[in-house]
Amino acid sequence: MSPIGIVGCGIGGLALAVALCQQGRPVVLFDQFDAPRPVGSGLVLQPVGLHVLNQIGCKAEILSLGAKITRMSGHESTTGLKVLDVTYDKTGVEYGCAIHRASLFDLLYRAALAAGAEIQHSAQITGRVGQRLVFADGSRSAPFDLIVDAAGAGSPLSMMKATALPYGAVWGTVPWVAGTSLPWDELRQCYRRASNMIGVLPLGQMPDDPTPIAAIFWSLPTRDIAAWQTGSIPDWQAEVARLWPEAAPFFAPITHADQMTAASYSHGQLRKPYSDGLVHIGDAAHRASPQLGQGANMALLDALALARAIDRSPLDLAGERYHRARRNHVWLYQNFSRAFTPMYQSDSRVLPWLRDRVLTPVSQTPPIPRVLSSLVRGRLAQPLGDLTHG
Ligand SMILES: Cc1cc2nc3c(=O)[nH]c(=O)nc-3n(C[C@H](O)[C@H](O)[C@H](O)COP(=O)(O)OP(=O)(O)OC[C@H]3O[C@@H](n4cnc5c(N)ncnc54)[C@H](O)[C@@H]3O)c2cc1C
Repeated sequence: MSPIGIVGCGIGGLALAVALCQQGRPVVLFDQFDAPRPVGSGLVLQPVGLHVLNQIGCKAEILSLGAKITRMSGHESTTGLKVLDVTYDKTGVEYGCAIHRASLFDLLYRAALAAGAEIQHSAQITGRVGQRLVFADGSRSAPFDLIVDAAGAGSPLSMMKATALPYGAVWGTVPWVAGTSLPWDELRQCYRRASNMIGVLPLGQMPDDPTPIAAIFWSLPTRDIAAWQTGSIPDWQAEVARLWPEAAPFFAPITHADQMTAASYSHGQLRKPYSDGLVHIGDAAHRASPQLGQGANMALLDALALARAIDRSPLDLAGERYHRARRNHVWLYQNFSRAFTPMYQSDSRVLPWLRDRVLTPVSQTPPIPRVLSSLVRGRLAQPLGDLTHG
């Protein structure tokens, strides 16, 4: 059997490599990094993402490194109004798992190697000619029957025209604060209208250090990120403390702007994420703001759907089958993300007003809490279509 070439050793590419190797299909992964290295801070694996990790045998280790999340809640800074309150599952069967990217990456990377994947580092791909990948130095790979583009938001193989979103964030990783009143099993957020969002997310631990950690984030217009990076850290910390006193101790360890990673977001989707000999998964196929916390989960679902499509269809039909299985779920989440994001991250004064005075009371009226919980869990539509069963 000839190997499948995967561009991108991120969440989607690594999960796909594990699943394909477990099916007995050889894979070669290419990534531009010189040494294994994840970027950014933490993310939430939703129940659908945990399901994928369970299918590829990685869930138990993920849970041992991450923090179990049972609820997401957020309040408005001036009114104190609870604006977001989503419980995963009152019976406790379903939950999220917040984890540092380094822990998730380390685990998937080791799983891919253990499953037999070949991983080539320092392999920046700039394009493809037929079924060969083109490297930055102009050389070409051996031909692959199928190339999978898992190169994320900056993919050189994806023709997506994504729209840059006006708001981004700065993210950091800090020790969990002993004695804090913030719970270890909740994502907590605080909003000033829609122009700032402060967040504290428990993350579990790094792969090689048992110290409990948290992700902190501060959202702001992307046009203000450069000014934030050169501005006064103590002034910023004082502003955080004024808006949300309980969060202040988590922001206290930051002394330099370079302890926080700036992230900007974009929104877009390929109408047809496959063509002859090429399939796109994860952020290379669709991307959205992290407001609903679904991006990594989408990449994991894409990976499992594509692995199953490859297992059950001739290789030249696998891309179409994967797309059919995933398209309704992706469409729904792209649209919900597009609708929700401006209520939490925009210059609008009307949308946060509507959020607080109209949507919040509605969201607390049955059956809407159950619908919102399904949305966050990733289960509002069938995520894997006719490829649901393993
Ligand atoms: C600040 C922030 C917070 C987020 N929070 C959440 C959250 O809570 N929950 C959630 O589910 N999602 C979240 N996301 C989204 C999530 O991180 C992405 O959707 C997810 O990582 C996409 O996975 P991927 O495999 O498609 O791409 P990535 O994980 O980005 O991996 C892409 C890989 O491709 C490699 N690569 C890129 N270009 C090339 C090239 N030319 N040649 C070779 N290799 C290349 C990169 O080095 C990288 O290793 C967040 C995103 C951001 C920015």
